[in-house]
Amino acid sequence: MSELVTDENVALAKKILETHRLCDHCIGRMFGKAGHGYGNAERAGLLRDAAPPGSMPKAPIGECELCDGLLGEIDHFANLLVKKAEGYEYATFLVGSKIDESIVASENAIVSEFGLTEAEPVRMEVNREVGKRLFEITGKETDFDNADITFLLDTAYDEIKTDVRSLYIWGRYRKYVRDIPQTKWPCTVCRGRGCARCGNTGKLHPTSVEELLTAKAMDAACAQDESFHGAGREDIDALMLGNGRPCVMELKRPRIRTLDLAKLETGINEHAASRAGICGLRYSDKKEVVGIKDADYTKTYLARVVFSSPVNERKLNEALHALRARTIDQRTPSRVAHRRSDLVRRRTVLDIALLSLDGEKAEIEVTAESGTYIKELISGDGGRTQPSLSGLVGIGATVYELDVIAIND
Ligand SMILES: [Zn+2]
Ligand SMILES: [Zn+2]
Repeated sequence: MSELVTDENVALAKKILETHRLCDHCIGRMFGKAGHGYGNAERAGLLRDAAPPGSMPKAPIGECELCDGLLGEIDHFANLLVKKAEGYEYATFLVGSKIDESIVASENAIVSEFGLTEAEPVRMEVNREVGKRLFEITGKETDFDNADITFLLDTAYDEIKTDVRSLYIWGRYRKYVRDIPQTKWPCTVCRGRGCARCGNTGKLHPTSVEELLTAKAMDAACAQDESFHGAGREDIDALMLGNGRPCVMELKRPRIRTLDLAKLETGINEHAASRAGICGLRYSDKKEVVGIKDADYTKTYLARVVFSSPVNERKLNEALHALRARTIDQRTPSRVAHRRSDLVRRRTVLDIALLSLDGEKAEIEVTAESGTYIKELISGDGGRTQPSLSGLVGIGATVYELDVIAIND
């Protein structure tokens, strides 16, 4: 950073003030990037001390032709922000501002008239000074990366918009019933507005894991809305058992950020009752949501299979043995071909074993790479998955129930 009090800067300051009436904040700000650790009004004082007495007249803030009194309103703005944030719990904040266009225009005019290279934009001074004042009033601190509340102050209209950071809570969920989707499923006819098809609910399914689990969390945080982020999802007719699936509940515009997570967990589980559950709640962040969405954990499934005729146990075990640690090619299954691009995916079956066999019905445990289509691994999907259990055994095989019993994260 360059030096503030130089002959050149003193001469420039004098020259500006010969033709412009500026308050000390504004003349100081014209040299705002020179010298370290000063406020802009302080900069003006230092330059004035070095100038011949009386050569740098000082306009009262209210008569400043540049800011038109704006920099005398720091207290007022800080108080507006405090009021705006009432009812929200926050430990950190960030102040941004939009300054009257006429002020920005006069500032730009002076900067270019005198070819100033170290001027600080008025917006920066307002942000910093209001932030400092807000800290003095509330004891809460500025955070440039991850503030609980971000204020956007429009100085022309005394208008303030707030962006309240979401509260993220991580957990592992289980799903105990076969007829609910993981997330809210808007009606495909009305897209959520409500119509005859969906009985005016706007939804295709009356509830979801998302709704069952987030309702109590929304209440606890007094949140306005929510999003549910799962590490993948199971089919709507599949149970999610075992150790549960990692997920993050995102609570939007929360008024309360400090929650009793143990109590919340109990409350959620009572509410979701026999349909879904969650455990291991802890605070999380946006970064973990990205990670959870990109995660490709192997999963272990319990597949209940029916063969087209009774199957020989030795032959079945040979087929399962042939699939173990085997790479398979899966062309996009016919059942999802309408929404996924048609291509061949190569996946690895890590383990597959027979748990029980009763005539034409078998229970089979499969551990496979993320993205493996288990139903098609069993059925062969008319030859689209190669090899398959059905193909190896030589008779038809269909999965009639498929549950996730472990996420191997
Ligand atoms: Zn001013
Ligand atoms: Zn509808």
